[in-house]
Amino acid sequence: MLFVEFANVCEQVAATTKKLEKAALLKAFFAQLTDADLMLAARFFAGTPFPLSDQRVLNVGGAVIRDAVIVLTQAEPGVWSRLVVEHGETGRAAQLLLPGHVATVPTLTLADLMAIYEQLQTARGPSKKLPIIVATLERLTPLEGVYFIKLMLGGDLRIGLQEGLVEDALARAVEVPVAQVQRANMLIGDIGETAVLARHGRLDEAQMRLFHPLKFMLASPIAEPEEIRKNIAGPFFAEDKYDGVRAQAHKQGDRVALYSRTLDEITHRFPEVVAALSRLPGEWILDGEILAAREGQILPFKALQARLGRKDVSAELLEQTPVVFIGYDILYQDGAVLLDDPLYMRRVRLEDLILPYGGEQPLDGVIAATVVPSLQLLIKHIDRIDLLFDQARARGNEGLMIKDPDSRYKPGRRGREWLKVKKALATLDVVVTAAEVGNGARRRFLSDYTFAVRRSADDPELLNVGKAYSGLTDAEIQELTDWFTAHTIRDFGRVKLVEPEIVLEIAFDTVQPSARHKSGYALRFPRIVRWRRDKSAAEIDTLETVQQIAEST
Ligand code: AMP
Repeated sequence: MLFVEFANVCEQVAATTKKLEKAALLKAFFAQLTDADLMLAARFFAGTPFPLSDQRVLNVGGAVIRDAVIVLTQAEPGVWSRLVVEHGETGRAAQLLLPGHVATVPTLTLADLMAIYEQLQTARGPSKKLPIIVATLERLTPLEGVYFIKLMLGGDLRIGLQEGLVEDALARAVEVPVAQVQRANMLIGDIGETAVLARHGRLDEAQMRLFHPLKFMLASPIAEPEEIRKNIAGPFFAEDKYDGVRAQAHKQGDRVALYSRTLDEITHRFPEVVAALSRLPGEWILDGEILAAREGQILPFKALQARLGRKDVSAELLEQTPVVFIGYDILYQDGAVLLDDPLYMRRVRLEDLILPYGGEQPLDGVIAATVVPSLQLLIKHIDRIDLLFDQARARGNEGLMIKDPDSRYKPGRRGREWLKVKKALATLDVVVTAAEVGNGARRRFLSDYTFAVRRSADDPELLNVGKAYSGLTDAEIQELTDWFTAHTIRDFGRVKLVEPEIVLEIAFDTVQPSARHKSGYALRFPRIVRWRRDKSAAEIDTLETVQQIAEST
């Protein structure tokens, strides 16, 4: 199948907002494809050439795409930047510049494109990737070029089509409930293979495949203990809410892998955790938190930060900032998928697995081994919550998590079976939209950041709410300066508009109405609490939260 046919369907999908119409377009296209093409097309529609279970990434950024378009079209860099800002993305900017410089007749197939992505993946560094991108763009028509670029950047084609809709279209095509498709896709981590299984009526053959991250289950915030009773009728688990980084651990045979909340592999950063986990028998997937701890005492998040930015972990760093893994859930064990078992049953399995090999529950707050289960108590009365909260804080933790013992594990869902109690809402998660050269000692760095919240959960429009410059370490500022330089969308000299991907947690005194920012609000005395490497821009706070804080202060 020609790649242009895929691009044409994408354009039709983008032209309608109706989900049913989008699904019908995909279904009609899928019907024309061989199994091999169906596999590729399903992955491409979901936004990346490689399946989730395949940890390969292309590592292509906006800068090398800009260079490739400039090589082909001789466009002025300023023209390119203006088009990217106007159209909000690289693919569309390229579409305007490429005509006259590239092919007019489409010739490449879906399989050709896949072969090119594989070649790009093995080419190391922008200088090796650039000639491949130039040669490919030259052989594609401008419209195909758009989708070649979008897939290269990965994640979302920006045509109003998420992986969920691809699952929906597949289910409609073979007339099965969408839940069956979702389950198979979650277990094997490849929408392409799922599509082929669905076509042949073999979805029930999908087996859990390890070493691709499942999405994480999340919690909803509550302000008052009374809200627990609205969601959980009986006794409930109260767990310490640890202030580290979320991690999912997979083990099979001798191999252990760790994945972050953003579904990236982070195994190499935590060798001592990997060594301790590899002693737990059998094959399994655990959900938990990585914390810095020394001699049993939890260290503040700042200590863990030293481990997060490093690709290579030196012996010195291992010595300075030792880490532990606190397990709070088990999702799979020795052939059994446990997601639909109630939490209290999963917990029994978790403790049976960890306690003989790891440490005990840290009842007194002391973490006695590199792998321990979370501190969890079964509570009947909500009047215990305040005391438990204070004790959790005294142990160096952030607050409490309340969990329904009967709850299933729902990957990717922020439900009300898990509730988080963090007292005053004192921080916001925001994304950086512009970076500015600092003053004084920081004049060689991009150290002052303008940041934004989302308009709403459904509307990704970014609205600036403030600007902050203090709170990060020098190493982080250096790393961010490099990142922002490579990801500048528009350069105004001292100020650079940057790709909105870096998430920061910001503390502040109050929120005030303000005409200066598009959001209509400004944070007073904002300070950067931390760089949230574990969160993506899709997960930041919304305007509604800002409004609520403004009204309550
Ligand atoms: P938030 O980052 O405020 O959305 O809170 C959700 C995060 O709390 C999760 O991603 C976990 O990293 C963290 N967390 C800490 N302790 C627990 C726990 N006992 N159970 C589940 N999540 C926890």
